[in-house]
Amino acid sequence: MDRDGTLSHEVGYVNHPSRFRLYPWTVDAVRTVNRAGWLAVVVTNQAGIARGYFPPSVLEEVQQSLKDQVAAGGGHLDAVYVCVHHPRLGKPPYRLDCDCRKPRPGLLRQAEAELGADLARSWVVGDRHSDLLLAWNVGARGALVKTGYGRGELQHLAPSWSRPPDLVAENLLEAVEHILARAAP
Ligand SMILES: [Mg+2]
Ligand SMILES: [Zn+2]
Repeated sequence: MDRDGTLSHEVGYVNHPSRFRLYPWTVDAVRTVNRAGWLAVVVTNQAGIARGYFPPSVLEEVQQSLKDQVAAGGGHLDAVYVCVHHPRLGKPPYRLDCDCRKPRPGLLRQAEAELGADLARSWVVGDRHSDLLLAWNVGARGALVKTGYGRGELQHLAPSWSRPPDLVAENLLEAVEHILARAAP
C-alpha cells in the first residue's frame, strides 16, 4: 500500500505530524488484509527528506502515528518501507540515485527479503501511475484508488497508459475487498 493519497489524505509534503490524517476506512482496510492472512506493507516515497523540507524525525513521528492509529483500531502493519532519496536534489546521503524510489523495485524487494512476501501474488494499491509501474516492475498486480491523485490520473492520464490498472477502486477498502475476493479459492 502506498501511503499519501491511499492510506492518508494527499496534502502535499507531510512536513508536520498535524498534516497526517488517515481516511476513515483505512484501519478497516488494514484489518481486512490482516484477517485474510496477507502481509500489510506500506511503501512510500518521502523525497521531502532529500529536499530538506522536513527532518527525518518528522517522518518517524508520522510513521509512528500511522502505526499507532492502525493498532488502536485492532490492525497491524507488517512493515513500513520508505524511500527518502532524490536522484538530483538535496545533499548526500539523501541525494542518491537509489533503487528504492518508486517505481523502482527496492522497497518491494526489501519486503520479499525480510518478510518473505510473494511478489508474484502480491498487489500494490496506490493513487498514482508510478504505484502501478512499481507493481509491474516486480511482476505484481497494481490497483489504482480514486482517492488522492487517483481520480485525476484516471481521468486525464490513464488514456495514454500502455497498460491499464489491474483494478480500479473507489478507495483502499474497496480495493482490498476486490483483491481478496479475486484471490479467494
Ligand atoms: Mg500516493
Ligand atoms: Zn530511495
